[in-house]
Amino acid sequence: MIQSLLIANRGEIACRIIRTARAMGIRTVAVYSDADAKALHVRQADEAVHIGASPARESYLVGEKIIAAALAIGAEAIHPGYGFLSENAEFAQAVIDAGLIWVGPRPASITAMGLKDAAKTLMAAAGVPVTPGYMGENQDPAFLADRAAEIGYPVLIKAVAGGGGKGMRKVEAVANFADALASCQREATASFGNAHVLIEKYIQRPRHIEVQIFGDTHGNIVHLFERDCSLQRRHQKVIEEAPAPGMDAATREILCAAAVKAAKAVDYVGAGTIEFIADASEGLRADRIWFMEMNTRLQVEHPVTEEITGVDLVEWQLRVASGEALPKRQEELSINGWAMEARLYAEDPAKGFLPSVGRLEGFRLSSYECRVETGYEEGDWVSPFYDPMIAKIVVHSASREETADRLSSACASALVWPVRTNSSFLSRGAAEPEFVAGQVDTGFIERHELNLCTRRGPDEKTLQIGISEVLKRVEQPDLDKRAMRDRRFAIDLHGLRLNSNRKNAHWIAVDGRALELSPNYKGGTAWNIEYVGESGVLVSDDDGQLVHFDVARTDGSAHGPASSGTILSPMPGRIIAVEVAQGQTVTKGQKLLTLEAMKMEHSLIAPFGGVVAELNAVAGAQVQVEALLARIQPVEQT
Ligand code: ADP
Ligand code: ADP
Ligand code: MG
Repeated sequence: MIQSLLIANRGEIACRIIRTARAMGIRTVAVYSDADAKALHVRQADEAVHIGASPARESYLVGEKIIAAALAIGAEAIHPGYGFLSENAEFAQAVIDAGLIWVGPRPASITAMGLKDAAKTLMAAAGVPVTPGYMGENQDPAFLADRAAEIGYPVLIKAVAGGGGKGMRKVEAVANFADALASCQREATASFGNAHVLIEKYIQRPRHIEVQIFGDTHGNIVHLFERDCSLQRRHQKVIEEAPAPGMDAATREILCAAAVKAAKAVDYVGAGTIEFIADASEGLRADRIWFMEMNTRLQVEHPVTEEITGVDLVEWQLRVASGEALPKRQEELSINGWAMEARLYAEDPAKGFLPSVGRLEGFRLSSYECRVETGYEEGDWVSPFYDPMIAKIVVHSASREETADRLSSACASALVWPVRTNSSFLSRGAAEPEFVAGQVDTGFIERHELNLCTRRGPDEKTLQIGISEVLKRVEQPDLDKRAMRDRRFAIDLHGLRLNSNRKNAHWIAVDGRALELSPNYKGGTAWNIEYVGESGVLVSDDDGQLVHFDVARTDGSAHGPASSGTILSPMPGRIIAVEVAQGQTVTKGQKLLTLEAMKMEHSLIAPFGGVVAELNAVAGAQVQVEALLARIQPVEQT
């Protein structure tokens, strides 16, 4: 067995690999960039090596530095995780040439499956049904347009070197073909350095179904059943599950046999995934499922397979890399229950999925029974350098319905602040009747996008008034700690309900007093309140949207709409100019300050005329998203 392992990755997958390696008694070595110096994977590993600057191309993508780190620290093997260098055959070969163990397939298998056109040609020759289309050498636009016409619209143009949902264009009609082709080629060149494309029939009512396969160096290959990853946004997976809804035993057998055949065709060793696209317009039928591509690595969504099979896939990877035979034979593997995974992203669905970065002042994901895979803890920073996926929430139970229900609850209960997440988007998605009924396809999110993304609940002003009321009640002697323990209370105010009961109660301390409030009140509009820091209260609603409320600024003297005049930083950035002074009278639309963020300048203006009652912005200062920069008080109230 391998004695020491370097993990050439970061975030949740690095932590995930460390966990299993440690349980197996393997010494773990993390690598990290500048931005990750204090990251969780570094804290969790036995040792850690700095490999470069924050941008991935200067650290996590530099193979030589990673190999040098492994040799210098005496690590015996390298696990690449997913993304980064995991599907880079040259890196795999360099690891082997350096005398290290590569935890992954043979470089030749990676190469064979690396380009989508070559992989499809290989699979077709091996007798695996492939998505109909053109996958040849000729890249002449007129020739490709003829092939598209032959295949029949709609078609999908795909970069052969594409990945992560990039480099794809759906074309509805011949009139749009030339433009789509040119733009796809541009993106392919920019992202993958390869303009080559293939043309595929766009499958109707498409479902993404993939099969987990596993091979060892003794010639054994098994499958660990299928996953359904049809819930996608812009061709990127959002919620995955196993098994696939509506898959009957006979269809499963044919599909999984095709996957094993595909893996055998490339002498596959280690964990891999064969991705298929299914035409589900008449349910899942074996003759309407086609090979799409193979991912020669561990997949992001591997936990759902682990949940239903009871297999630790990372353990299997390490055993196979050590030369052992697969721990189980095909007939020893079976499906138990249902599992789902949701990808929690640091992004704001209400703002067009704008990435959200900053310090995780609040980060609590495990109040429901679920498996959480994350690379972050409260107090950690989400940096703008890497993938915005900050956690995976995984649920397993006996039935699909129960699993969906629990996934929805687990996502809704995620408390993340002030970084925005897609938690409510995920929670609503898992609760959508169509999803619960198992009617999934890749168009699901687009069909429901409006409902999934719209922020609900009263505005901040209503909320602030409500909280000041709560705080007033806290002042009342009958609502002290002891009394709270014995009673429930609810305040109805402006249609806002603030609830407390004993179930799942949290204590919050406000000015030295304890107040117990329910984080999970179900029914009506419930507000979940938590104490944060010295004077703040963190409030979330059923949708998981959070508002930070500063107790110190709320004396309960019902001033009213203080919030509408609050100027919050819309994103993390730097203040480059402050145009006003405290106490100054300003007119509606007057420029207050300039914020530089994401390489652009943004002017923040007065929402109405009034007085600058508060000014926290200082030129040159870095600010976090939603930092209170200034507050304008309407003239009539001053
Ligand atoms: P899968 O096919 O397994 O769902 P993707 O095709 O989405 O995975 O590719 C994996 C993606 O994960 C890459 O595009 C990369 O941007 C991202 N990624 C790589 N490393 C990490 C990491 N440590 N944490 C989160 N995301 C990562
Ligand atoms: P990537 O390498 O980016 O993962 P894939 O070839 O796996 O590229 O395709 C990504 C997603 O695009 C699939 O999961 C599916 O939702 C959609 N897709 C791919 N091919 C087709 C097709 N022929 N018809 C309909 N949808 C497709
Ligand atoms: Mg894919």
